[in-house]
Amino acid sequence: MRIAVIGSGGREHAIVYTLAQSTVVEQLYAFPGNDAIGEIATCVPVDIGEIEKVADLCVEYQIDLVVIGPEAPLTNGLADLCRARGLLVFGPNKAAARLEGSKIFAKELMAKYHIPTASYAVFSEAAPAKDYIRKKGAPIVIKADGLAAGKGVVVARTVEEALRAVDTMMKERRFGTSGGRIVIEECMEGEEVSVLAFVDGTHIVPMVSAQDHKRIFDGDKGPNTGGMGAYAPAPVMTEALLKETEETILFPIIRALQTEGISYNGCLYAGLMITDGGPKVVEFNCRFGDPETQAILPLLAGDLGKIMYDCAAGHLSPQDVIWHEGASCCVIMASQGYPQTSHKGDRIEGLEAVTEGIVFHSGTKKNAAQDYETAGGRVLGVTARAHTLEEAVQKAYAGIAHIHFDGNSFRHDIGAKGLSHYKN
Ligand code: ATP
Repeated sequence: MRIAVIGSGGREHAIVYTLAQSTVVEQLYAFPGNDAIGEIATCVPVDIGEIEKVADLCVEYQIDLVVIGPEAPLTNGLADLCRARGLLVFGPNKAAARLEGSKIFAKELMAKYHIPTASYAVFSEAAPAKDYIRKKGAPIVIKADGLAAGKGVVVARTVEEALRAVDTMMKERRFGTSGGRIVIEECMEGEEVSVLAFVDGTHIVPMVSAQDHKRIFDGDKGPNTGGMGAYAPAPVMTEALLKETEETILFPIIRALQTEGISYNGCLYAGLMITDGGPKVVEFNCRFGDPETQAILPLLAGDLGKIMYDCAAGHLSPQDVIWHEGASCCVIMASQGYPQTSHKGDRIEGLEAVTEGIVFHSGTKKNAAQDYETAGGRVLGVTARAHTLEEAVQKAYAGIAHIHFDGNSFRHDIGAKGLSHYKN
């Protein structure tokens, strides 16, 4: 089978790396991929913002299965274009990707079908939004409706902060049209966890749970980032909670979409808060998480190529989705200035010394001397799998110790929250 993976980050590197081990894959392409992906797949340069061009390339390269990594091409309708050209696709159509692309759509669907989530109100004008905030008090959460690369959410600790967020989104239009309408939500308390699932339109098979670390500094301090590391599985997600999540969230949301005439096909990502009242939805994403994927896929014992193909073809077998025992941990190394800025061109040393883990590349490129250098904010995801979470964490950090580039930063506490569950 000829598979094309769309995207160029660490998530796509992890997907390509796992697909490269699949028995059903004959040819692997990445559109556009990155230099590290190019070591295991054929990279084809293309701007994935140009979705017509990407769909045409998939036809030209006689791709049997298109796997779409990032959210933007999904919410813009790349899956629809590929399907219209007769291609099999792992990834939801535009209508289903609205689960991520419009927070209002997701909230309204959850409300209509009684799926547990924070209570909310929607506003298209600043004045009534501000009245609502003054009435509700803080803490309170303000969200721009559309995509904003993880920056369109403000968890306001004070009323003043919440009022400022309304102005930033609605008056200053910091997030462009994404802030034309906003959602104001009850602030939920609890531990966050992500559950991703393979979905073939009808069947939903959850993966091992994972926990992301969104803040830049240790102890969940500092500004939000794209994600500074992840581990899997997350012990907060017990068997019983996973069952509850399937029954109250995953199955109902896919059935809700079906009832609305929308079929979901691909990876469904549920960002959850484990509250005193059980799991509640923080957000849905319509694709694999980054860096959760880098932690989850090394634990997959099943054949990712077969699983993705079967999802795309509508006949996923739950018994194919099998996992290794143990745990895995991915620690992100970022370049100088991240998350406000990033620094390009710093030479990365020591990659070849990492023998016990896998290094997924997010923002790197090869220079003229064929050495890797930084080329983005999040640079590498150093990942290790082991029998226990403690060992996986140790191995990932042992990998990090070998790698150096100027101005690099990483969190030192990836997995700590997970380990604390075992100590209690
Ligand atoms: P964007 O749309 O800008 O890409 P996002 O999809 O990453 O952002 P969310 O996941 O909805 O945004 O929110 C980001 C973070 O804010 C969450 O991971 C969580 O920590 C916090 N958060 C969001 N909603 C709530 C809530 N209702 N209660 C408490 N915390 C919340």
